[in-house]
Amino acid sequence: RAKQDGRNNYAFYTQSLTYESVAHLKLQSALHDALAQEAFYLVYQPKVDCKTKALSGFEALLRWNDPLLGSISPAIFIPVAEKIGLIQEIGRWVLQQACEQGVSWLAEGKDFGRIAVNVAGPQLQRRTFVNEVADVLKATGLPANRLELEVTESCMMSDPESVGRDLILLADMGIVLSIDDFGTGYSSLNYLKKLPINKLKIDQGFVRDIPEDANNTAIAKAVIALGRSLNLKVIAEGVETPEQAMFFADNGCDEAQGYLFSKPKAASELEHFFEVPYCV
Ligand code: C2E
Ligand code: MG
Ligand code: MG
Ligand code: MG
Repeated sequence: RAKQDGRNNYAFYTQSLTYESVAHLKLQSALHDALAQEAFYLVYQPKVDCKTKALSGFEALLRWNDPLLGSISPAIFIPVAEKIGLIQEIGRWVLQQACEQGVSWLAEGKDFGRIAVNVAGPQLQRRTFVNEVADVLKATGLPANRLELEVTESCMMSDPESVGRDLILLADMGIVLSIDDFGTGYSSLNYLKKLPINKLKIDQGFVRDIPEDANNTAIAKAVIALGRSLNLKVIAEGVETPEQAMFFADNGCDEAQGYLFSKPKAASELEHFFEVPYCV
């Protein structure tokens, strides 16, 4: 009997392992088809000026609706796409799509400020990345100063010299460079003075429970002060409450982004943000 139980347990164990690896394989193979199946689309989340609450830009965020697997979060599939070497192709599609959206807003006389695109580590580490960005800007006609690229600390640290050179080229083109999830990666602060970074995005983990959380409040104030003294803009992400918005406005943060203002939405659902003068 004990033996039987043991066997059953063993069977159960391998079954669950198999289930997980099959799920992972399904995810990988679905990802391979996603571009061709047109299963990706972008949503856009407004960023606003902390003081005036006027629209300052949009962040483009990738969505994937697989016909069989359903909606899968980018927090899950982006790391998989990085691992299986698909992120370059997907990232280029995102960039192209976001720039096209920017151009069509401009053509409609809608001033969106800047459009921000997230860049994954392996994209930035490719030698061809700068050319790719230049190509997309040229092909779509989006002015470079309308584009913002969000990079993370860790994606700069893997090959700081060559990534640094590329960031300088991108900045020279007029593109705005932001550090996403600032404070959560392993990095030296040295790059902030060496590289043409324009903006720090305070990670939403530090925005949570402000102003009640004394630690987060202290960290947020310190990041704003750091930005000030290095002449960088600072934006708070994941702002969900009026209290948080007030805190960032009162403490000299430049921009804010979060569900309080709007969830990420399809471009067609964002029309009201262009009513001038727009205020939240
Ligand atoms: P991120 O770039 O830091 O984006 C912010 C995430 O926080 C987004 O999740 C956004 O929907 C969410 N968010 C915004 N405001 C709030 C809020 O007030 N409260 C809460 N709880 N969440 C808020 P999302 O869209 O699921 O994206 C997750 C991550 O996936 C992104 O983090 C980014 O790292 C990655 N990602 C998304 N799209 C792309 C892309 O096109 N390329 C790359 N490389 N990564 C992407
Ligand atoms: Mg981002
Ligand atoms: Mg972020
Ligand atoms: Mg994040």
